[in-house]
Amino acid sequence: MKNVKPCSIIPPTDRQASYNAAITENPSNASNNASNNEISILGIGDYQKLWKPGRELKIRFLEDVSSSFLRAFSQAITHWIKHVNLKFLIVPKGDADIRITTVSGDNKSMIGTDALTFDQNIATMHLETTPSDEDFESTVLHEMGHALGYLHEHLHRDATIPWNREKVYEHYFENYGWDKQRVDENVLTPYSGAIVDTEYDKHSIMHYEVDKELTDGVWEVSKNTALSELDIKMAKRTYPEDPNDVPWKNL
Ligand SMILES: [Zn+2]
Repeated sequence: MKNVKPCSIIPPTDRQASYNAAITENPSNASNNASNNEISILGIGDYQKLWKPGRELKIRFLEDVSSSFLRAFSQAITHWIKHVNLKFLIVPKGDADIRITTVSGDNKSMIGTDALTFDQNIATMHLETTPSDEDFESTVLHEMGHALGYLHEHLHRDATIPWNREKVYEHYFENYGWDKQRVDENVLTPYSGAIVDTEYDKHSIMHYEVDKELTDGVWEVSKNTALSELDIKMAKRTYPEDPNDVPWKNL
């Protein structure tokens, strides 16, 4: 089995602040069910964390990175950029919406507007990959997907993956030191959210690679290395050219 380091989501520290930031940025992020706007009972996926379509997103690296890294990074995120109505600007200093560290040894990210609830010196995205890695582009695309507000596809409520739970716990503990709770949150527990109404997509860049040794021995997902057709459809729908097109309400 390959030992590619899995991604984990950086959760908000303050759920109410997360919700407030999300709906202030983009009112269509609100829960579909008005009576469920009580943050204490909202689950992951009950509200979106999408940026306001048409806005500019500033990206800043918290440490110096080489010009070849910047080139490769910019090249990779182009695959998202061409499908979303957002402007991207990499800034060398000053405030930024997406703040990236490359020295933590992890691949992980906050989800969309959660980045607004943290101080400017806190990284919103961690990248441990370099352009010479085979997985560089797919890793950047996956983490940038989170930064755009997209969740893990293998936790889609319709995924119904036949996990071998004991093997999953063992695998993630032995290879990455993840405890049961981290495995539950990032691998095994589907989102309950009612607002996430896209079709489950095995080919999504937001899906973990799933080895059949961790399932019933048959079910597997090989590594997705590019945006899928449904990823592109989601990008266009969540960041529409016409900002009056509200993405989630008409499904
Ligand atoms: Zn991820």
